Amino acid sequence: MEFVDLKVQAELINADIEQAIKQVMFHSKFIMGPEVFELEEKLAEFTGAKHVLTCSSGTDALLMSLMALGIKPGDAVFTTPFTFIATAEVIKLIGAVPIFVDIDKETFNICPDKLKTAISRIKKDKKNKLIPKCIIPVDLFGLPADYDKINKIAEDNQLFVLEDAAQSLGSGINGKKSCNVTDLAATSFFPAKPLGCYGDGGAIFTNDTVLYEILKSIRVHGKGKDKYNNVRLGINGRMDTIQAAILLEKLKIFPDELNKRNKIAQKYKEYLEKYVRFQKIPENYSSAWAQLSFVSEKREAIIKELNANKVPNAIYYPKPLHLQETFSELGYEKGDFSVSEKLSENILSIPMHPYLKNEEIIFISDIIKNVVHK
Ligand SMILES: *Cc1c(COP(=O)(O)O)cnc(C)c1O
Repeated sequence: MEFVDLKVQAELINADIEQAIKQVMFHSKFIMGPEVFELEEKLAEFTGAKHVLTCSSGTDALLMSLMALGIKPGDAVFTTPFTFIATAEVIKLIGAVPIFVDIDKETFNICPDKLKTAISRIKKDKKNKLIPKCIIPVDLFGLPADYDKINKIAEDNQLFVLEDAAQSLGSGINGKKSCNVTDLAATSFFPAKPLGCYGDGGAIFTNDTVLYEILKSIRVHGKGKDKYNNVRLGINGRMDTIQAAILLEKLKIFPDELNKRNKIAQKYKEYLEKYVRFQKIPENYSSAWAQLSFVSEKREAIIKELNANKVPNAIYYPKPLHLQETFSELGYEKGDFSVSEKLSENILSIPMHPYLKNEEIIFISDIIKNVVHK
């Protein structure tokens, strides 16, 4: 059994993908070939966002977004400590200061009330004089953050909102798709994400044409007229044409895969709801189910039994970011974000991918039930 089984899917579509790759080899436009632009159009259609810019990875999508927004040293960027390192890494990389805000106990996403408090605290802090500029909410495990409240807070405080949608492409909130609910959104096509390519890849989404033009320049070394005319600082942030060709094929089956993930999540819930606590999916929200995660006080015992039965499992995330060494200069301490810290001690993720069989779901669920029952 696999945690994320990419082989079943490959059997379904690898013949088409081979053709798509051959086509790229035939035309040899390996950088910025026609597939790149076709994919951007298809992703715009899929999410409803006006502009889509593919790029080299989810991390670069976040980094380029912060560069395009003009975030700089002395700026404060608010985010959750309960996420993958990339979310906060890019804030420090461009010299701004990550301000961590604890999460909601039930959705595991950034808590809007605590966000409000953190923003006023930074505004009143005359010693460090940081300027609040941006919020990066993360759609953890595929569930969108509370954008109704977050966008309102951003508006009241004149902050940008950059959605870290690395795990949530395909999810929804109040009839809108993830990647089309904020100023900017960044997603990842890392192979194990809901929509993954055969290597690294990412994309940025926006409805703002000015930001889009700036992003196009940043993606190619801050180009002006061309790449030998450089008007701003940029990076090499392009997606390979071969990856775009692969994603075009995978995007065709993606809506069906999202349905399958959703059904699998419902089955897990049916079997296990009485025994463990699942991430809460609020009304009018849908998840892309990047991970199937639950909370249990008996986590260590569950892990032991799952391992004994060769069922892959993982802890996302074992250490909240405010306690990571790379952020030690920020002065956070254990106890600062009790919800995130507690969650890191009792959360667990179990196999989730569109091709998980019913027998496997029952097998995994029975192991967990038996441990919790004892
Ligand atoms: C995967 C991930 C990223 C980074 O994406 P890469 O494509 O691996 O660079 C950023 N944020 C979150 C929340 C992620 O899960």
